[in-house]
Amino acid sequence: MKPLRRKNKRQVTYDPDTGQNREWKLEQTKHTRADNGSVDTDEIVRTSFKDCGCDGKIGGICYVCGAVSCISCHGRCNKCQKPICLQHSNFLEKKDGEKERLCGTCYDVITRKRGWAKVGRFFLSLIVDTGEKSNEK
Ligand SMILES: [Zn+2]
Ligand SMILES: [Zn+2]
Ligand SMILES: [Zn+2]
Repeated sequence: MKPLRRKNKRQVTYDPDTGQNREWKLEQTKHTRADNGSVDTDEIVRTSFKDCGCDGKIGGICYVCGAVSCISCHGRCNKCQKPICLQHSNFLEKKDGEKERLCGTCYDVITRKRGWAKVGRFFLSLIVDTGEKSNEK
């Protein structure tokens, strides 16, 4: 039986950062004439899930992988303001103990600058570790 009439409704979110539309909800209505002459209506409503797996409002789309995250998972890079998902967020602890969310590129730039201080701390922790172990023996 051929559908009499079809109606498609789509809900999209426009992301100004990527310039793309992301589809959230697909509503498909199909009207068919049944054998007895009545017009039947089929309605399909499909809601797409967020990639982070959470419920709740949509926070945004990651500019790296295109993943859709909820408000609590999604964030922006503190430096370049690009939207990033939790997976592509790097957290850098600041001096005041607060965590700074950074994208991969900005995180690389900052950690490269701090690189030598980190290496020094790493060797220091090695020395402390071996010292503790030899004390146990
Ligand atoms: Zn989430
Ligand atoms: Zn991502
Ligand atoms: Zn950045």
